[in-house]
Amino acid sequence: MSTLKIKIPEFVPSLFGCKWRVSQADNYQNVYNPSTEEVISKTPMGSSEDVEVAVECAKNAFKTWSETPATRRADILFKYRSLLEDRFEELSELISLENGKTLDEARGDMRRGFEVVEFACGIAHLSKGESLGQVANNIDGVTMREPLGVCVGISPFNFPAMVPMWMFPLAIACGNTFILKPSEKVPLTVVRLGEIFMEAGLPDGVLNIVHGGKEIVDAFCTHPKIAAISFVGSSHIAKYVYSLGTSHGKRVQAGGAAKNVLLVMPDAEQDATLRAIMGSAFGCAGQRCMAGSLLMGVGESAESLKEGVVRAMDELVLGDPLRNEATQMGPVIDFNSKERITNIIENTKRTGAKLVRDGRNGIPEKGFFVGPTLFEHVTPNMSIFSEEIFGPVLSMLNPKNIDEAIQWLNGLNYGNGATIFTSNGGAARKFTGDIKCGMVGVNVGVPAPMSLFPFSGWNDSFYVDLHMQGTEGIMFYTRQKVVLSRWDNMYQRKSGW
Ligand code: NAD
Repeated sequence: MSTLKIKIPEFVPSLFGCKWRVSQADNYQNVYNPSTEEVISKTPMGSSEDVEVAVECAKNAFKTWSETPATRRADILFKYRSLLEDRFEELSELISLENGKTLDEARGDMRRGFEVVEFACGIAHLSKGESLGQVANNIDGVTMREPLGVCVGISPFNFPAMVPMWMFPLAIACGNTFILKPSEKVPLTVVRLGEIFMEAGLPDGVLNIVHGGKEIVDAFCTHPKIAAISFVGSSHIAKYVYSLGTSHGKRVQAGGAAKNVLLVMPDAEQDATLRAIMGSAFGCAGQRCMAGSLLMGVGESAESLKEGVVRAMDELVLGDPLRNEATQMGPVIDFNSKERITNIIENTKRTGAKLVRDGRNGIPEKGFFVGPTLFEHVTPNMSIFSEEIFGPVLSMLNPKNIDEAIQWLNGLNYGNGATIFTSNGGAARKFTGDIKCGMVGVNVGVPAPMSLFPFSGWNDSFYVDLHMQGTEGIMFYTRQKVVLSRWDNMYQRKSGW
């Protein structure tokens, strides 16, 4: 069924030193098609020397690019937007190939990244400052936003297009130059996004792409010529990058892990709620930082909610999205992930939670598959309540009322997403007001904000204040200058004009 026309390179190329090349590396990491376990390419695990070359190139490009008028930068972004639209299906298939998500999910991944490019096309307006004439006698005040210099992005495997695109289009639109290090597990989409940006007319050195892991990330965090770092990944690495980067004088924004709650009140609209729960818990095989993994059914309606969820789980079609069009859920990213998730299932069985559906059963023989899994009788003292699983495992709890649900939710260390399903405005208002969490849904299964809004995690889900996307993204990638000008009419006295 796949019509993928892109040639997949044997070794993933990097874009640094202003040209595409395969970096010399001692180690290579396999890039898999997770649906078949086939190795489709190899990522060179680059070194700090690659970073050195990329920084030099980005640094050299910064002078011209930062002085290029915002409207001219926007011209290139408009062209990029148009080329991305033409290549939308090709890119979606590539995402599906290297990540394993279904084609519809891959299109969603692309769509959300694409929307950031659309947002960035408005850079001339978005980066305007403020002004006040006559702020004091003969003094006018204006603010200006200026780019920072060389910025870098480090992205995770689960959104091969969207997460990198939270970063580089906006940073570049603001007049910065950029070095991107995608996840070594899914580097091919980023390479294609880079090729298309160059085709749109982006000057050499403005975007650079390097590949690797810890050595590259450490070099970014400590390099004196790097001004800012955007990171998205697991919380312990987010915290590490944040501490190391800021202690070396950089601006850092770092998104981490999550544990998201779906709270269903007895008056929730049943069919729409069930569809939203299924999409949230099992979409992208549960590998979303906004995946709903704790399902709280309030009161007696919890039992019928469980029955509905189990019926829908039993109907989910697992498979290879590029071979079977009917596929509703793909595999997880790799063997280690599969093993980690199946171990969690085994260990949770011993904690007193009841395993209602076991995703280790009835899965395709080949591919890193874990089927949809459901635990009930989960309580807040169990590790499955508080730890991110990042797989298709849903835990059910049964709070007495909305207050107990909010109390449990507010005990979590993370603060990405939480949703209430209800037809009562008062309950919705209480929930949105009382919870300690940055992205809140009312009857929305995955309350992930579009590019106009910040991706607004709290607590251990995000380190620092300025989030990705929206005007916060613009603020992160620029610094402000305030100019106070005093011009009195001395010239009249001097020259008599
Ligand atoms: P990860 O933390 O393993 O990897 C993220 C990036 O860090 C990759 O580029 C990787 O190469 C690099 N890295 C890995 N080990 C490193 C180390 N020891 N030192 C420095 N860098 C290192 O994350 P992942 O498994 O690719 O992605 C899944 C995680 O990302 C989940 O926890 C998920 O919740 C999170 N995530 C968060 C958001 C958000 O907005 N908060 C969005 C998407 C994903």
